[in-house]
Amino acid sequence: SEHVTRIDDLPIRDELRGKSPYGAPQLDVPVRLNTNENPYPLPEPLVARIAERVTEAARELNRYPDRDAVELRTELARYLTRTGGHQVTKDQVWAANGSNEVLQQLLQTFGGPGRTAIGFEPSYSMHALIARGTGTGWISGPRNDDFTIDVAAAERAIAEHRPHVVFITTPNNPTGNAVPAEAVLALYEAAQAARPSLVVVDEAYVEFSHGDSLLPLLDGRPHLVISRTMSKAFGAAGLRLGYLAADPAVVDAVQLVRLPYHLSSVTQATALAALEHTDTLLGYVDQLKRERDRLVAELRAIGYDVTESDANFVQFGRFEDAHAIWRKILDRGVLVRDNGVPGWLRVSAGTPAENDAFLDAVRDLKKELS
Ligand code: PMP
Repeated sequence: SEHVTRIDDLPIRDELRGKSPYGAPQLDVPVRLNTNENPYPLPEPLVARIAERVTEAARELNRYPDRDAVELRTELARYLTRTGGHQVTKDQVWAANGSNEVLQQLLQTFGGPGRTAIGFEPSYSMHALIARGTGTGWISGPRNDDFTIDVAAAERAIAEHRPHVVFITTPNNPTGNAVPAEAVLALYEAAQAARPSLVVVDEAYVEFSHGDSLLPLLDGRPHLVISRTMSKAFGAAGLRLGYLAADPAVVDAVQLVRLPYHLSSVTQATALAALEHTDTLLGYVDQLKRERDRLVAELRAIGYDVTESDANFVQFGRFEDAHAIWRKILDRGVLVRDNGVPGWLRVSAGTPAENDAFLDAVRDLKKELS
């Protein structure tokens, strides 16, 4: 008889046994609003500029890339300074293949075996998975029923567990709401009193926010890290470019774990081209913010509950059986996301036509349900 080797037959680490990989189900349906992507393809002049810069890079592909990505970090610092209300230098910026890799490097440096990290859930589930992958213990911290962070309970959890790394996602995924600066400051103080620990603010969606980036909080807080990505606002999820801003010492520290030449010359050239077109791309962000606000208003008008959103997606409910509703929306040709938050689903803001298709589907569904 034939024996098929399964993952668990292999001598893998115990903590990986029986686990499934991260990933949203991808289905071939007309309207896909499930992964918080930017629905707008890059503008043609930018596509042409990428081709130009990648051609230049290709002529030197026999050489390793700039290991320290100095030009890219300089341009990212310029972007943050221009948009974040705070002067940032290239020594404060580090980049990697998506913010997931940035977060992994942070946990490899500041977490790891015998150490712990805390997040306030529901939140971005990769924080817990990257913790597991780096051998970092995970602590699930609390949130209120309205998905705001219960600051007093969070302070108690930090004091009790004394985690080495604290994750704060703002705007939060999958709920959409932003965390007020005062709450972040309170948790930073609690984390410093407890250990001190590294506080990582994941601002993947901050360009879509009604409010401001927390970059100015970096001043005088050497254990604070702001994580960013070009996957959402820059419409470049396929590029895989994430970055962080922090005290230069944090940037020096992650050098201890980063793989040499982790950012390819092609990636660096492409990201630099995209940064040349920042203004055009931020124009799309404005359009998406308007569409996000429209989704919130229309969902409420139809009679759904909606969590306040500062992101490019909206959490709506409440449903007795969210997964059954997810399926009914899918039957109407629209793929949204069931993140496993009981009673709630998440829809990413798409083009006006995609959002109309989604709104038609849930309007129709409301009639069926009532
Ligand atoms: N942080 C948050 C909160 C996210 O939602 C995502 C993407 N879903 C990421 C980080 C990772 O993005 P990337 O690796 O594409 O930069």
